[in-house]
Amino acid sequence: MRPRTDTNQAGCIYDLYAAFGCDFGGDGWYEIMRGLCKELQEACNKEPGAKVIPMQIKEKFGSLQFYFHAENCSEELNDELYNIVNKWEGISERTCMECGAAAVMRNNGGWVSPLCEEHYAERRR
Ligand SMILES: [Zn+2]
Repeated sequence: MRPRTDTNQAGCIYDLYAAFGCDFGGDGWYEIMRGLCKELQEACNKEPGAKVIPMQIKEKFGSLQFYFHAENCSEELNDELYNIVNKWEGISERTCMECGAAAVMRNNGGWVSPLCEEHYAERRR
């Protein structure tokens, strides 16, 4: 695990982990959270005062769910923010939750999660 108090340039990534206690295990989606937050921040930088307030971050049916509230955004920017979130939620469905490798959705005892071959085999043991 990476230190939860560490921050990136935008000062958001690990704070989000800590503040919202992402309920998915493993570090596999770390790069997804990082990429998602970076793109949201870059989009917000285009409009003064624009910001994204994350409401809830969780995993549902093997997909990242990032619920947020946008403030001081034009309709155009708002659309862009939703598109960014949709894009990364889609990427999460193809990314192993444990290690970040390419994955497909696995059904393991009714629990659906994107896992690579290795971690799928591990869970079935
Ligand atoms: Zn894996």
